[in-house]
Amino acid sequence: MTKNKSIQDRMFSDVESDLFKKAQASGLEYLSKVFDRNVFPENQALEGLEKFIEEMPTQSEEAGKVIDLLHQFGSPATVATMGGRYFGFVTGSVLPVSLAAKNLSIFWDQVSAMQVMSPISAKLETIVEKWLVDLFHLPSNTVVGFVSGSSMANFCGLAAARYRILKNQNWDITEKGLFDAPRIRVVAGRHAHSTILKSVSLSGIGKSNIEWVDADDQGRIIPELIPALSANTILILQAGNVNSGSFDDFKSICQKAKDQGAWVHIDGAFGLWAQASKKLKHLTDGIEFANSWTVDAHKTLNTPYDSGVILCADKEALVSSLHMTGGYIITGNERDGMLYTPEMSRRARVIEFWAALKYMGKSGLDEMIYRFHERAIQFSEGLKKIEGFRILNEVVFNQVLVACETEDITTQTISKIQELRTCWVGGSTWQGKKVIRISVCSWATTETDVNLSIKSFEKALKMVLQKNEDHKF
Ligand SMILES: *Cc1c(COP(=O)(O)O)cnc(C)c1O
Repeated sequence: MTKNKSIQDRMFSDVESDLFKKAQASGLEYLSKVFDRNVFPENQALEGLEKFIEEMPTQSEEAGKVIDLLHQFGSPATVATMGGRYFGFVTGSVLPVSLAAKNLSIFWDQVSAMQVMSPISAKLETIVEKWLVDLFHLPSNTVVGFVSGSSMANFCGLAAARYRILKNQNWDITEKGLFDAPRIRVVAGRHAHSTILKSVSLSGIGKSNIEWVDADDQGRIIPELIPALSANTILILQAGNVNSGSFDDFKSICQKAKDQGAWVHIDGAFGLWAQASKKLKHLTDGIEFANSWTVDAHKTLNTPYDSGVILCADKEALVSSLHMTGGYIITGNERDGMLYTPEMSRRARVIEFWAALKYMGKSGLDEMIYRFHERAIQFSEGLKKIEGFRILNEVVFNQVLVACETEDITTQTISKIQELRTCWVGGSTWQGKKVIRISVCSWATTETDVNLSIKSFEKALKMVLQKNEDHKF
């Protein structure tokens, strides 16, 4: 019967059908299990992904069947990053309220390019901008661009820095580009995140032009080794080392760099949030003297992916460097989000961001962030007690680095932990050696989750050692 209808008529029927109820029911079923299920998909679920392989269909499908297919073979093949035992990379979970806000807002499908395209998005961006500047204690003239994450935010920070440094030398980068422009220096710590390298490369400065500064045993830039800076220098610092979680010494570096006229950019993808916790904010002392900051909402704040911001205390530099024009553009008398981001069309990810902050308030946020830290401490204390595991970093925030007796055993143990699926951790390299990296970033992680995970570490190590022993004979 559907065959004779036009696709448009079918779409109108879809709106009135139980299509959305079906999707919602599937989502709720998923949600009810996600905290208990295996963290990584079972092999059978991974094999099920073959079901998606086909040529682009010639005929249209029933909408309900599209959703069924997705739920039947997609849901089991997800990684349960939402649950409490995913400790891979630095991956946040999702606050229920933030997920619910997104759930409502998907029906709005707002574009947050211009105020005229979405007054609600423009309003919430204005409000969240104010809240963030207050929360992080940044200069009151700081503006915020809502982007997909810290990769993009780091790029925006460098674009603004590049604009300002050259503008001060009467060179308009947006018109004249980098050819024949005065030289820009970039100074960064050895442990800068890989996305900083990408940003330096994207911004045309070139990775091999970075002046590297050695870091200490926790990955912090060594302040005494920072070369003399000048008005043509971008200094890149870090709040939250992606491995150890360590913080650069902003207090002793930022003001001094500023006095020398340098632009300071802080990559605080997950660590900037330390500022929102009374007991941890000492880690971010001094960040207010920087010029631009990067932070993710999808990591520590636990909003849905993808969501991060660039904060910049030089509105002209940020807006000018990302500027675009067109005859059809209608700038509002309030906020036009696209002025602060590289994209024009962008989904209104601020909605979930706002919901998270509104729901938690400063006290809830403080509690959650400090709990990540407590769980990380619990992890490190628990593992220390087990023979065969060593903790390599000072656990100052939410990251724990673990090594076994040899690199080989470490590598095998990571695979075994992943295979057991009770929790998920990844590997990294620390001081040239293979390590297990634990990142506590989920609101849902309980003491029990950490205990179960420690047990899984212990079991995995035992199995690895046993296997190696068996192979000897
Ligand atoms: C995760 C991370 C990034 C990259 O952020 P995305 O949101 O994944 O783009 C940059 N810097 C640090 C320190 C990070 O932890």
